[in-house]
Amino acid sequence: MVSILHNQSLKSFNTFGLDVSARYLVEVHSLDELKGLVKSEEYLSGQHLFLGGGSNVLFTQDVKGLVVRNLLKGIAVVNQSADDVYVKVASGEVWHEFVLNCIANGWAGVENLSLIPGSVGAGPMQNIGAYGVELKDVFYELEALDLESLEVKVFSKEDCKFGYRESVFKHELKGKYFITSVTFNLQQHATLNTSYGAIQQQLNLKGIAAPSIKDVSDAVIAIRSTKLPNPNVLGNAGSFFKNPEVESTLFSELKAAHPDIVGYPLESGNVKLAAGWLIEQCGWKGKIVGNCGSHKDQALVLVNYGGATGAEVYALALSIKKSVFEKFGVEINPEVNVI
Ligand SMILES: Cc1cc2nc3c(=O)[nH]c(=O)nc-3n(C[C@H](O)[C@H](O)[C@H](O)COP(=O)(O)OP(=O)(O)OC[C@H]3O[C@@H](n4cnc5c(N)ncnc54)[C@H](O)[C@@H]3O)c2cc1C
Repeated sequence: MVSILHNQSLKSFNTFGLDVSARYLVEVHSLDELKGLVKSEEYLSGQHLFLGGGSNVLFTQDVKGLVVRNLLKGIAVVNQSADDVYVKVASGEVWHEFVLNCIANGWAGVENLSLIPGSVGAGPMQNIGAYGVELKDVFYELEALDLESLEVKVFSKEDCKFGYRESVFKHELKGKYFITSVTFNLQQHATLNTSYGAIQQQLNLKGIAAPSIKDVSDAVIAIRSTKLPNPNVLGNAGSFFKNPEVESTLFSELKAAHPDIVGYPLESGNVKLAAGWLIEQCGWKGKIVGNCGSHKDQALVLVNYGGATGAEVYALALSIKKSVFEKFGVEINPEVNVI
């Protein structure tokens, strides 16, 4: 049986570095431990929260129930052909370590997703994405424990209903499953995607004309390391808000009023706006409010300058949201899970 600790600080388990406490804290290393835990008094006593790397949560208060840290480990090839390789990864594996493992083995597909913090199991929650690639592009299936029946269910890509930073697990199935493993469909021969962001520029800078997946990963790591604040130095959870989608008619009106507005046309006909640009136009970039603020280089990233509370960060987020709505009539919503 797992050992359950009482009244533990979660400061080192969330990348915002917020000093909240959990009434109960436990680590799980196997499916059997998890199943046993779900029947425990502590689990049943009230609120419970699953935590991977804590890089996409904002704790606005202490957790009055049980926090379960996911330490399920293991990476295995379950099938392969001349072109494809299917890799099953336990959900507690660290995402970036998995990416490095793929690169070392020559498995292509996740190199653009290098250096995203957190666990493999949280990846499907919001269909993580970066530099023109999303998790859904390499997803085959996942297994998740039904927390009521204690049966393990297999979810296909369609079942997961992936969208931009979205999945079924953030909506109708919220809180109903614990993701135990994810199986990826990777490629034995890479088709590289270097057109997005500054990847090609970074490769040119290094004089690399025929890049490997490692070169692309290194380029992404180099770009991210200069662009994003390191949570070990400055508490943050990456982009705080999602980029909002608006109808093309509204985009035309906004473009007429703000010719510099940044928008990306979508297949649906809608336009995705750059939330960072909207926030910057409202004067928030680099602004410090109490112990937190909007980062000086990345308006979309809210940071804890030290000693901030989650409530303070959340109040800042609401003020930003309000001013964006007042100026542009556009609603921006958090990507981060507010607890
Ligand atoms: C500096 C920085 C940069 C970032 N860049 C990106 C980026 O480029 N792209 C991107 O998409 N994201 C980015 N993020 C956000 C974050 O890294 C991802 O969302 C990541 O997948 C979160 O993983 P985690 O293990 O830390 O999740 P956690 O924060 O621990 O959990 C997130 C949510 O998922 C739930 N959850 C976690 N594990 C499980 C499980 N096994 N079963 C069921 N529910 C679970 C939790 O309860 C919580 O609601 C960034 C964050 C930081 C700090």
